[in-house]
Amino acid sequence: MTDLRDLSFEELRAACAGLNEPAFRARQIFAWLYQKKASSFEAMTDLPRDLREKLSACFSFPPLEVTGLTRSRDGTAKTLFRLADGLLVETVFIPSKNRKTVCLSTQVGCKFACAFCASGLLGFRRDLTTAEIIGQVLYVRDILGIGLTNIVFMGMGEPLDNFDNVEKAIRILNDPRGFGFAARRMTVSTSGFVPGIARFKKLDLQVNLSVSLHAADDETRNRLMPINRRFPLAEVMAACEDYLGEGGRKLTFEVVLIKGVNDRPEDAERLARIARDLRAKVNLIPYSPVPGLPFERPGDEDLSAFVRRLEVRGQEATLRDSKGSDIQAACGQLALRSGSPAAVPENPKPSEG
Ligand code: SAH
Repeated sequence: MTDLRDLSFEELRAACAGLNEPAFRARQIFAWLYQKKASSFEAMTDLPRDLREKLSACFSFPPLEVTGLTRSRDGTAKTLFRLADGLLVETVFIPSKNRKTVCLSTQVGCKFACAFCASGLLGFRRDLTTAEIIGQVLYVRDILGIGLTNIVFMGMGEPLDNFDNVEKAIRILNDPRGFGFAARRMTVSTSGFVPGIARFKKLDLQVNLSVSLHAADDETRNRLMPINRRFPLAEVMAACEDYLGEGGRKLTFEVVLIKGVNDRPEDAERLARIARDLRAKVNLIPYSPVPGLPFERPGDEDLSAFVRRLEVRGQEATLRDSKGSDIQAACGQLALRSGSPAAVPENPKPSEG
């Protein structure tokens, strides 16, 4: 049984052709799935009955199974889903004054094992399918009943390492015949997976790119992010420069500030230099502690001093506290759950990335 939400519009059109149906059926079905919130083929009332029967013989589109919903004092809501194979994955909804953002997971676990992040602690299990990525958005819209303003690919996993499924999800979400969500209101965050950045550029969509930098020198970055040994800073910077190209595009650097590790004066100076060179925005996020990891959030004074050091060098920066920390839904806390790691299935079969 194929999940209908694994099909791009073009694939759906081909599937309709395969059933000897006219091309406009694909439009109708796409609209039912992503605009009219159908929950069964029965509900697709403008399709002939025999087509609905044919479709239900080969396709399905079950909603993600929810196993837990935790709400934070600040309005953040974390949902835990159980996937068809028993693996667990999380989605976070983050409200703020003028934004309603969903933070999507793209993989179960992560191959990249950043030293400070909870997701990597579990190792990598598998890529999420397109249907599982889109299912997270549909859940927030249809079950939580939230009108989203922003979609960020910043949950568990490395989105550019699951490129095909993430790309397809972005296209379905963006397609006016589908979910119809503005590309500019979507952001993909990467740990600096260089081949992915080059491919991302070729998508030629206005989806934002955010690079998790965390340090502007190789020594510090190597300590924090094993991926830096494969793609050192110079290569990441070259990929960013190429991505920016002739202009038009923008880039954000994310830096999670960790006490005594990357919040020193020289860290700010180096960061200002490379961000200014690329005219990148800088998002600073105070570290959210992960139990068992030896990292701490800097004090408020050190955080402000870091921002000031950037500013005197002409580099603007936003300092935003990660929301949902009381429910372990803050950045890098996904997969933590009262003692039992969320991504561990009953019969774990770890696969090395
Ligand atoms: N793999 C992608 C997307 C997932 S992580 C990436 O690395 O960008 C999303 C963001 O959360 C990244 O910037 C990541 O570095 C940050 N993050 C991870 N652990 C964190 C923690 N404990 N506190 C604050 N931010 C964290």
